[in-house]
This record gives sequence, structure tokens and C-alpha cells, in this order.
Amino acid sequence: IQIKTAKEIEAMRLACEISAGALQAAGEAVRPGVTTAQIDKIVYDYIVQRGARPNFKGLYGFPGSACISVNDTVIHGLPSKHIVLKEGDIVSVDTGAAIGGWNGDNAATFACGAVAGNAQHIMDVTKEALARGIAAAQPGNRVGDIGAAVQQYVEANGLSVVRTFVGHGVGRKLHEDPEVPNGGHGPRLVAGMVIAIEPMVNEGTHVVKEQPDGWTIKTADGKLSAHFEHTIAITPKGPVILTQQA
Ligand code: MG
Repeated sequence: IQIKTAKEIEAMRLACEISAGALQAAGEAVRPGVTTAQIDKIVYDYIVQRGARPNFKGLYGFPGSACISVNDTVIHGLPSKHIVLKEGDIVSVDTGAAIGGWNGDNAATFACGAVAGNAQHIMDVTKEALARGIAAAQPGNRVGDIGAAVQQYVEANGLSVVRTFVGHGVGRKLHEDPEVPNGGHGPRLVAGMVIAIEPMVNEGTHVVKEQPDGWTIKTADGKLSAHFEHTIAITPKGPVILTQQA
């Protein structure tokens, strides 16, 4: 596990700030009639205009600058000109930027126009679960305390936590150790760790299914899924969100 100095964490702020700006720009573009390819282009343009590099593009062969996952798609949705957003959709966007040799990573689920009560519920619960996971990311706690806080809150609200995908360290590489599961145990948190916490929450079963395209992950039962993520630094004073939107 890479331990960063305070100076290195400071240097990571720009990559994280650009990641947050890209996510914000994506969220503002979510409306009925827009394709996920158009949103991907907005993310790409934003990151490049800020002098950074979209760090998802080409990673493991991923073709886009953002993963855009609509309704029952959990994560890794491929941007497509054939996926047209419609009123009532919920749209998870995951994106990151690299600059100066450092990476940022963040995600959020956005409402497309007016959404049903259950759709609002899963977004609200997932966002709050992330906040609770971050609050548990105190030096001296274990990585598993983050997941336990997430899982307890999500299940108390009648929803389920995806097990098969996890958060991760962030730094010189987008994906570093440790794994940050949304439940379970894991190593102890120490000041200087930078991690992405990213609860993925399903309305029904926690079971997910990879689609034939080799990327798109959907819920096994076709019910809704939501995803929120921040890159945070563990500091002696507690967790600090590096991908806070302006
Ligand atoms: Mg991530």
C-alpha cells in the first residue's frame, strides 16, 4: 500500500479537482434526449481542456472517458450513441483525470428529469452510504470499517450492496492497493493512504451479471442500481475528500 506524504496528497488535489469538475459537467448534461456518447464527449473535452488526461480511456482497453451506467446497469456502462436518456432514468457516471503523474476518480448517479420515488430513494441512500463510509475512514480503523458502515446503512434502508466490485487505492496509478470492499475486513487505515470509496447499491439482489460486450455490469434481476464515489485522503485529522465538487 502506497503511503503518500502530505505534499504528495496536495499534488493529487489537481487531478481530483479536475475529476470532480468533469463529473459535475457530466451531471449538468444529463437530460432526456441526450446520448451517453454525448456525455462521454463532454467529459473528454472538459478534462483535456484542463490540460489533463482522461485516465479511464484505454485503461484495460476501455474505449470511453467515462463509464455511463443507466438504470439496471451497475458500472462500466460503455458510452454509446444508441443509448438515449429518457425522463425518469437514473444515470451513474464514473470518471477520472490524470495530471502531473497523479490520478483522481469519482462517480455519482444523476436523475434524468423527474424520477420515481424508488429511484430517488436508491440515489439518496447510496450517496449517504458513501458519506458514512468516508466518516469511518479514520486512521486506526480498518478498511473493513468503511464497508461495514456502508453495508449497515444500505441494508437498514432495504437495499443491497454489490460484493463483486470494490473501491481501491488511488495515486500514481488509478487502481492501487488496498482493495476497499463495501463490506468485510482488510488492512488498517493509516495517515497517508489515498483511497476511492465507491458503494454500488442495488434495489433488489446484490447479484450482478456481466454482459456479452465484456464490460457492462447489470443487476441480475433488472432492478435499479446506483453508484457514488469519492477519492479521499486519510490524514492524522481524519478523512479529507479530494474530489469535492466546487
Ligand atoms: Mg474507482
